[in-house]
Amino acid sequence: MKTPNLVDARKRNCDRVNIIRNFKIDSDLKRIGKNKKYVVKTYGCQMNERDSENICAILENMGFKRCNDIEESDLVILNTCAIRENAHNKVFGMLGRLKHIKESKDLLIGLCGCMAQEEVVVSEIMSRHKYVDFVFGTHNIHELPNVLNRAIVNQKQEVEVWSKEGDIVEDIPIKRESKFKAWVNIMYGCDKFCTYCIVPYTRGKERSRKSEDIIKEVKKLKELGYKEVTLLGQNVNAYGRDREEEISFAELLTKVAEIGIDRVRFVTSHPWNFTDEMIDVIAKYDNIMPYIHLPLQSGSDRILKLMGRRYTQEEYLNLFDKMKERIPGVAITTDIIVGFPNETDEDFEETLKVVEHCKYDGAFTFIYSPREGTPAAKMEDNIDLKTKEDRLHKLNEIVNKYSNMNNQKYLDKTVPVLITGVSEKDNDKLCGYTDTFKLVNVEGGKRLIGEIVDVKITDAKSFSLDGEVK
Ligand code: SAM
Ligand code: SF4
Repeated sequence: MKTPNLVDARKRNCDRVNIIRNFKIDSDLKRIGKNKKYVVKTYGCQMNERDSENICAILENMGFKRCNDIEESDLVILNTCAIRENAHNKVFGMLGRLKHIKESKDLLIGLCGCMAQEEVVVSEIMSRHKYVDFVFGTHNIHELPNVLNRAIVNQKQEVEVWSKEGDIVEDIPIKRESKFKAWVNIMYGCDKFCTYCIVPYTRGKERSRKSEDIIKEVKKLKELGYKEVTLLGQNVNAYGRDREEEISFAELLTKVAEIGIDRVRFVTSHPWNFTDEMIDVIAKYDNIMPYIHLPLQSGSDRILKLMGRRYTQEEYLNLFDKMKERIPGVAITTDIIVGFPNETDEDFEETLKVVEHCKYDGAFTFIYSPREGTPAAKMEDNIDLKTKEDRLHKLNEIVNKYSNMNNQKYLDKTVPVLITGVSEKDNDKLCGYTDTFKLVNVEGGKRLIGEIVDVKITDAKSFSLDGEVK
């Protein structure tokens, strides 16, 4: 039994990161899942989606078969997100449902991901949710076979969560969700410690994969016919800085682009340390998509300082303008938090000022959610909910106006779209993404899924485009 510890999770030292390449599943554990079905439910960001691809592959190597229906499954693992309170609530709501199902059939329940790294969550699971059979964290996904086995053999709740700064485990098997677009981790963890954010505690220290491992992975994906890779990290600009022998993110991006895969994306870049070299590389290569997610969080210098964001409004706007000027047709989206402790009407107006200047292609907007253990959670949360909701509403109206305005520019244009699947809104249609990451719904046969096709845009709304395959 090993439970998470916030003090350990906060520590950072100069020890070298270990790269581990000895993943294996003991032969007697490979039959545990024979004739059994599993469901992995993923909450939160792309890192979690990517981790779930490892979790699914591990389970399938243990004999489990995937299914979509929880009622039919023998094992359910919830890969959780801790970023805001509502992410927590969703998971506890789902646990309630699983508990109910477990009352009438055999069901193994596991919890992992960022919530599993939180002390408060794990102690609640241990005291009030004893029907959860096992818990493992973001640092020990490779331990899943042993954790699961101990939960089955010992018939009691098994908790194994490491709060170390983190290693890199290179050779965990992957069951990719898609045959044409892939997530590729380039680094793990975060050392930025923005004062509101739980990620540096749940994901450990910033640690970069070796560029040769990343290049090898992308080359393999190209050979397999993949059309798109998205390089993943909490702050990709920091790639390589933790390893003396490593190249910079701009150099990595160049190497990846030169492999020749059709579409290269990356997410997320902190506005701090976004170098001119990075902008030049994005502008230079046609297969690096002209799309940047550049989180603002707040437009007020005072709030940015309280958030520990390390840039001012002026610096952000200079960077934004430089990107727009140097990268032809670039689309830029952002993240914004409203209602951070002490945010005044004037601070909020500064945020709106930035939004009016940037006219973003889109924005994820959030009401500040205190996360236990972060410095901001100790600040008095002195904005009432009504004010926070009013600010969010006002912000969203402006954000939506500009996304609609940007989308209208696509009307009657013909643009390349990677068709990714069946449209969620209308099962008779397909959906896909432009190079600028605009969602497009199109008429067309399923054979187009996985292809990059020319689409003429026939209608533009705030959140999507409609089009016809040419
Ligand atoms: N690493 C990315 C960056 O620096 O922008 C962000 C990763 S975080 C998973 C995604 C977004 O969640 C953040 O950009 C922020 O807007 C939002 N977020 C993080 N902590 C939050 C909190 N405590 N309350 C509300 N939103 C939060
Ligand atoms: Fe969180 Fe800031 Fe790190 Fe992004 S850069 S993951 S917001 S601490």
